[in-house]
Amino acid sequence: MMGNVENEPVSAGRCEACGAKLPEGAAGCQRLFDEVVAKEFSDYRYGRLHRLTVDTYSMQHPERYMRSGKSFMAHLTGMCAAPEGNQAESVNREIQRWLNGK
Ligand SMILES: [Zn+2]
Repeated sequence: MMGNVENEPVSAGRCEACGAKLPEGAAGCQRLFDEVVAKEFSDYRYGRLHRLTVDTYSMQHPERYMRSGKSFMAHLTGMCAAPEGNQAESVNREIQRWLNGK
């Protein structure tokens, strides 16, 4: 999920996609995302939020991570399932089965 935004223009200290105020624009936003993901992989207490982190970041940066309607639905429904706690994984599995169906 990590992308290369080094060549993207910096727009007045804001991420062009999500509007976050960051001195490095989209590159700074990507760097923050990468730091959060690294923390999720290094500390199990944060790891359970990984799916929500990726789904949220993807929805906020559609030009890079929403390449299809199927991708949009997968991230949107992933965010919607997150409040289900321990049930979220099985809900997401069923949604994936539906999205991969006919
Ligand atoms: Zn952003």
